Amino acid sequence: MHETSIAQQILNTVEREARRHQLDCIDSIRLRIGKLASVDVDALCFAIECGLRVKEGVKTALHIEQEDAEARCDVCAQCFSLDAVYDSCPNCGSFRHHIQRGTSMALVSIEGRKNPLKPAPSSIAPPLSCMDREG
Ligand SMILES: [Zn+2]
Repeated sequence: MHETSIAQQILNTVEREARRHQLDCIDSIRLRIGKLASVDVDALCFAIECGLRVKEGVKTALHIEQEDAEARCDVCAQCFSLDAVYDSCPNCGSFRHHIQRGTSMALVSIEGRKNPLKPAPSSIAPPLSCMDREG
């Protein structure tokens, strides 16, 4: 259920930004999720996709970048990557560390379009030679 409320917050932000930039449809959403962000990525994707409406025939693509987690050891000051919050320092074996990154989540970008199906008002008919290729 945790993922459902995160998805709702993301969708609210996407909708607000789309309105602010007058986008009629969203082509893609890019998220960065830390390895230790305590988010079930599959459940989150599912929840977001359920909330996305197909507008003007455009289906929104969801891109997820996973961010590795890094910590700095309190004892020997070594920086190291970790798979779980309770991992020990590979240099001295200490469990005392401060996590530097990999615990957060961010909405990186939103791509969208204005009036995807309406022809541009300045569009012109193709020249006749392009349409009649019989000869
Ligand atoms: Zn250490």
